[in-house]
Amino acid sequence: MYLKALEIYGFKSFPDRTRLNFKGGLTAVVGPNGSGKSNISDALRWVLGEQSTKTLRGARMEDVIFGGTQLRKAMGFAQVTLYIDNLDRSMPMDLDEVSITRKLYRSGESEYKINDQNVRLKDIVELFMDTGLGRDGYSMIGQGKIAEIVSAKSANRREIFEEAAGISKFRYRKNEAERKLVAAQENLLRLKDILVELE
Ligand code: ATP
Repeated sequence: MYLKALEIYGFKSFPDRTRLNFKGGLTAVVGPNGSGKSNISDALRWVLGEQSTKTLRGARMEDVIFGGTQLRKAMGFAQVTLYIDNLDRSMPMDLDEVSITRKLYRSGESEYKINDQNVRLKDIVELFMDTGLGRDGYSMIGQGKIAEIVSAKSANRREIFEEAAGISKFRYRKNEAERKLVAAQENLLRLKDILVELE
């Protein structure tokens, strides 16, 4: 899976629509302290569905929206789009390019899109499951991540191997199916109660 480009608009220190094109090979982002390098990796995490404000280095989710400077007023929303090359069809879609968009308004309203079509967060999480890139993937190694993996509980470390082995999706689907089964059983119980009352 090859990341082609990242478009950032209104996210953290990027009030102007900014497109980063990743050519083949290695890309390095360099710049002075505080210039916004880490905000780029935050944008990537965020568009993949990150929900932890701590991981995004903020106190509230609203903190990802450009908050203004002395010269520029704050923005009302943040938007990030990730373009993925899909020539190898590593994503289950018959398209050469797949785009993922996340938008957050100051009101708290969120939008998620796959190829410009509105979807749920769940759809984005499922799309990246077992690719290693998703929200809980291992492709993004942040500061302290290695130490965290080494000192993690064996059950948590196992999750990383499960993602790499491509079985996270099945565990996720099993949990979903079990949750639906419990809900169906509860409905059945309620129906039985009603039937008893009617008899
Ligand atoms: P370092 O090399 O020190 O790690 P960096 O280049 O990775 O720095 P970042 O941490 O990405 O820098 O960016 C920090 C800058 O982003 C700060 O100047 C901060 O004011 C700015 N910033 C963060 N969130 C917002 C926001 N919501 N609105 C405006 N600016 C923001």
